[in-house]
Amino acid sequence: MLSRRAMKVDSSGIRKVFELAAKLENPVNFSIGQPDFDVPEAAKDAAIEAIKKGLNRYTLTQGIGELREKVLGYIAKTRGRNYRADEVVITSGVSGGLFLALISILDPGDEVVFFDPYFVMYKHLINLLEGKPVIVDTYPDFRVREEALRKAVSKKTKAILVNSPSNPSGYVYSKEDIAVIVKVAKEKNILVISDEIYDGFVYDGQFDSPSSLYDNVMVLGGFSKTYAMTGWRLGYALGPAEIIASMIKLQQYSFVCAPAPFQYAAAMSLELDTEDNRKNYRTKRDIIYNGLKDNFDIVKPAGAFYMFPRLKKGNATDFVEMAIREQVLIIPGNVFSEKDTNFRISFATTEEALRRGIDILNRVAVEYYAKVKG
Ligand code: PLP
Repeated sequence: MLSRRAMKVDSSGIRKVFELAAKLENPVNFSIGQPDFDVPEAAKDAAIEAIKKGLNRYTLTQGIGELREKVLGYIAKTRGRNYRADEVVITSGVSGGLFLALISILDPGDEVVFFDPYFVMYKHLINLLEGKPVIVDTYPDFRVREEALRKAVSKKTKAILVNSPSNPSGYVYSKEDIAVIVKVAKEKNILVISDEIYDGFVYDGQFDSPSSLYDNVMVLGGFSKTYAMTGWRLGYALGPAEIIASMIKLQQYSFVCAPAPFQYAAAMSLELDTEDNRKNYRTKRDIIYNGLKDNFDIVKPAGAFYMFPRLKKGNATDFVEMAIREQVLIIPGNVFSEKDTNFRISFATTEEALRRGIDILNRVAVEYYAKVKG
């Protein structure tokens, strides 16, 4: 019945976590990939107003002019990069942008290089489109190594896919990391797709985008995380005009357009101050890092709302099962990686939950290490 393509996508790892989780009464939930705050009131009002005004019909496939202009302005201001009006499209979330970008550039067998650990969707989307994921190991510190990247690039490489700040590690690419990626890409004029959905959550230092250094970059950004609009399905893509034109054409026959009233609300959202949320999450980041650093090997996350601790021994799947039995929901590393040495914590939750979870995870770690040989 099902296509070969559809059957290639395996979601069993994450499903197992959710099945175990469904049996719990009042768990500490560290598995959620979205903010625990709500959409800003002003944005809610703007969405309601748009609906009441009757702005409920299809928009232009590429998105309303007002939002495209605001996005161009935002990227110019934050990345110092002036994309043109024919180089931007409003998408149904970054997920929609990723899908349209990849389907626009990949023929069967074409390769996309990305870094391990990676956002779950990358591997599955590339497989679905019959491309070939080429995965570059960045353990244990998540830095990009030039030699490893060079080895991964071939004649069939269509794109290098980058995600900073990263899901699942919270790692923020340094200037050196970005420079290495741009250097290798530039030599062969390879497209860099830069998933910058967590740009609103950077806690230490600054955020650098490859789009500031290199022309052949597609920036994917969105509203889901910064404004807690995960259910509104809004994102944007800025990149080479030829690819954007293809994405618009294909959006016409798939998503059609991003949700209309929310596009109006998103346009005003780009002017809202989200600094309090960022500071609040930085405090949470400090609590979780300080709470767990003695029992796990941790690269302190400088962004996003995830941490990716490494077990001192054993494997993540077994550890996660034990943690879930003790009421803490976390996700094993092999969902985001070719390895199973780490686990992902989302710290987008209350400080009370963080403290409860820290106590339990430390206790489970001591118990687990005592059981594991080596
Ligand atoms: N990219 C990354 C790295 C993510 O973590 C997510 C969501 O978790 C997405 C893209 C998709 O976001 P959305 O489609 O809601 O914009």
